[in-house]
Amino acid sequence: MGIARVELPADARPDTLAVRAGLPPSAWGENSEALFLTSSFVHPDAATAARRFANEEEAFIYSRFSNPTVAMFERRLAALEGTSGCIATASGMAAILLLVLGLLKAGDHVVCSQSVFGSTIKLFQDFERFGVHTSFVPQTDPDAWRTALRPETKLLFAETPSNPLTEVCDIAALADIAQRCGAQLVVDNCFCSPALQRPAALGADIVMHSGTKFLDGQGRVIAGALCAPEELVSARFVPVMRSAGMSLSPFNAWVVLKGLETLAIRMQAQSARALELARWLETQPAVERVYHPGLASHPQHALAMRQQGGVGGAVLSFVLRGGRQAAFAVIDAARICSITTNLGDTKTTISHPASTSHGRLTEEQRQAAGITQGMVRLAVGLEDPLDLKADLQRGLAGLA
Ligand SMILES: *Cc1c(COP(=O)(O)O)cnc(C)c1O
Repeated sequence: MGIARVELPADARPDTLAVRAGLPPSAWGENSEALFLTSSFVHPDAATAARRFANEEEAFIYSRFSNPTVAMFERRLAALEGTSGCIATASGMAAILLLVLGLLKAGDHVVCSQSVFGSTIKLFQDFERFGVHTSFVPQTDPDAWRTALRPETKLLFAETPSNPLTEVCDIAALADIAQRCGAQLVVDNCFCSPALQRPAALGADIVMHSGTKFLDGQGRVIAGALCAPEELVSARFVPVMRSAGMSLSPFNAWVVLKGLETLAIRMQAQSARALELARWLETQPAVERVYHPGLASHPQHALAMRQQGGVGGAVLSFVLRGGRQAAFAVIDAARICSITTNLGDTKTTISHPASTSHGRLTEEQRQAAGITQGMVRLAVGLEDPLDLKADLQRGLAGLA
């Protein structure tokens, strides 16, 4: 006896899985997935409760670690990433916390890209206090990853493309490096989502998500997940979730679950708009440089196209010749784009990385990372690209 799966043909494709994968409907036959707002579940008798608590019978027990709406989201995301298991978390950062608590111990070592999300760097640095050491390496140089390995290296952690420079790393090459030294490769797949890139198919052991971004897709809730083989999820992550409780609420799971249904068409549409804007920005005299993996001028363009199904993603950044003053002028002239650092929303967001998302770095660290004062990041949504160009043109016109 176990928790049933929805019956689908074995060869059902990703677009179908995104809408259909998960649990079967409840006794009431609802067509849209139900939201189970309940903290606990009732057992028919004491002996059954005992079996369930002893893990001898699979059933929902308590929503800190098991809930049908959360399980529905987990199964659907696993189906899209092509992993046998998945565990949902309260946020993307909670997913990294669960990863470290579940897999590492004092004395272990992590090799991490230096271009990952700022809070990811901060969290790995915090783990130094518990004896878990992290070396940060340049994202795009496999030799640097290889050189950083130690006998006690257990994890390699990458995020591709990176924010805001859209640097792309070779997932298959990193998977090979990890495998040779008996470590596991973790890929933060936030920027592409499984609609464009499936790291597990390229050899990654674990795929990490901030569900807050493209999976939700409309900027509503905070959510996260780890996708991995079911044996790893049940042996290493579920027990930590059960005792530590960085759980995703059923309501937030339901929002992100419904977001997965439109993920692929949003990613395609937003990425197409981003590429159109990136190409247009490259022709603007006030713009010194544009970063988007879909541009032929991108240093890892060929790799990105191979790895991301020919699509560059919905995030781009550009550098203005006039430095910080010019960047602020373009941002402040926008009447449509939202001035916020969130991304993956249907509403286009505009931000100045050097003073917001990367504001805690020293100017020296920012220079090393290539995040200059003239840089503006755009996370492109679903507005008409003509209106978005006009919105940027308002500020650019004053600079020429
Ligand atoms: C936002 C983000 C995170 C953190 O996710 P939260 O849901 O905000 O905790 C991690 N990685 C990347 C790439 C992100 O953009």
